[in-house]
Amino acid sequence: MARVDWKVSGYLRVEDSLIPNTILDEDDPSGTDVVERPLRGVRVQVKASTHVNGRFNSWGTEVTGDDGYFEITQRKNEKPRKFQVLIELNDSDLSVRSKANVKERLAIYQSRSREDGPDIDLGQYVLREGSGGNVSISTQWKALTWYICKCVMTTLRNDGARSAFKRKVRVRVPANTIGGAPWARGIGNDNVYIMQDTFNLVTIIHEIMHIWNYQHNYGITNWIAAVWGDSDTTGNQENPNVAFHEGFAEYAAWELMHLIWSLPKGLPYSRHELMTRRSLSSLSMVERNWKGVVSYLRMMTAFNPAELVVGVAGDLSGEYASETGDTTGCPTGQLVTFFDVLRVFSKGGGWKTEWQVTNRSYGIRRFFRRASDILDTFSDSASQLMLDAIDPAGTVEIMDRCEDLVTDVDRNARRRMRARRAQSATGPSPSGTRRRTETIWRHPVRAKAGSPGSKKTVRRKTKKKTTRKRSTRRG
Ligand SMILES: [Zn+2]
Repeated sequence: MARVDWKVSGYLRVEDSLIPNTILDEDDPSGTDVVERPLRGVRVQVKASTHVNGRFNSWGTEVTGDDGYFEITQRKNEKPRKFQVLIELNDSDLSVRSKANVKERLAIYQSRSREDGPDIDLGQYVLREGSGGNVSISTQWKALTWYICKCVMTTLRNDGARSAFKRKVRVRVPANTIGGAPWARGIGNDNVYIMQDTFNLVTIIHEIMHIWNYQHNYGITNWIAAVWGDSDTTGNQENPNVAFHEGFAEYAAWELMHLIWSLPKGLPYSRHELMTRRSLSSLSMVERNWKGVVSYLRMMTAFNPAELVVGVAGDLSGEYASETGDTTGCPTGQLVTFFDVLRVFSKGGGWKTEWQVTNRSYGIRRFFRRASDILDTFSDSASQLMLDAIDPAGTVEIMDRCEDLVTDVDRNARRRMRARRAQSATGPSPSGTRRRTETIWRHPVRAKAGSPGSKKTVRRKTKKKTTRKRSTRRG
């Protein structure tokens, strides 16, 4: 029988049930569009059998490209065959599987009867529960976890080696662990466990960002015992380092969701929320609360800090700060980016070690001090201003002292400029105290983020530049 070149090919995709369509697709708020994601870097194996109930032989493996495409060829006789396609979610950076130390090959396609060749084209092949005859929900979850983790890893790596994961991350999903809570285990093995009932986008990214922190952390190997002294690390009051560790993971998850899928960037909490609803009456209590840490980090990396209004405790204001501040005369634009925040974990600015998550004094206030030493765009005065603006017992808004946002670099530049103008008697008259007004970067759609599990809604930006007087602001 003549031999021909067989080809089994397709574009692997996974049906995304996690990233809300209502947010992704403003034209279709009913969310009926199914979002499919390409599966890149997945090892695909094709097996074939000429018999109805015969044994399958491997035709080899190949890794999918960025668009999920794979193609496996074999020179064989023309007899019709049954095919099996299996995938393995494992490479040098990431593995996703349900059991430890097992090579997990997931069946994603099986011929119903023998198929004629030589071209077996699966086309756009979408993994969803029930597709291909035998795709299980856990296979769909694993594939989706792979897609999400790869997006996060690529986004971090694109910022440079310092922001990238340093070692392979192993995600177990769906996993069964003690207590039923998702947790990241950092005893040198970089494992993350995601339980069935906590399978959601925020949890997946939150957990792998715990591992990121572990990989960018100075200190002891007995990391888990130090941080997870008790199994619950999200109590109202924890040691500052524990609250920081939890708060950072949560903050990072929301920032990455914003950067990768344009989900709403989170806003800091209002004073009302911190003091009245969460009973955090002082800065040191905020520091010991993981949501408080989230709030600090969101304020630091807000699009336009001067615009934030946190209100005063006891106000019937919302859960989050509003973006209604009068920014006339204030520096505008983002001072600190998410990637700048990652940089603060590294040595620099006189700090001789990486961040020390196991050291109790490493809370958010120390993080702010480090940030102002390490980052050019975050001055001591900006750091102090934000601490004052987050203090639940205070009344300061960022716009009240927005000149403090100006960095030392800017200050020096302005000082030099003034000196030059003073020297040049014939030059144009000095333009006085005009502030830096250029916008560094603004996102077109800004929306309020809900906390995980809460209803998320997109608030389209309809607000005109506010002209309200300050005196009416606090009513
Ligand atoms: Zn956590």
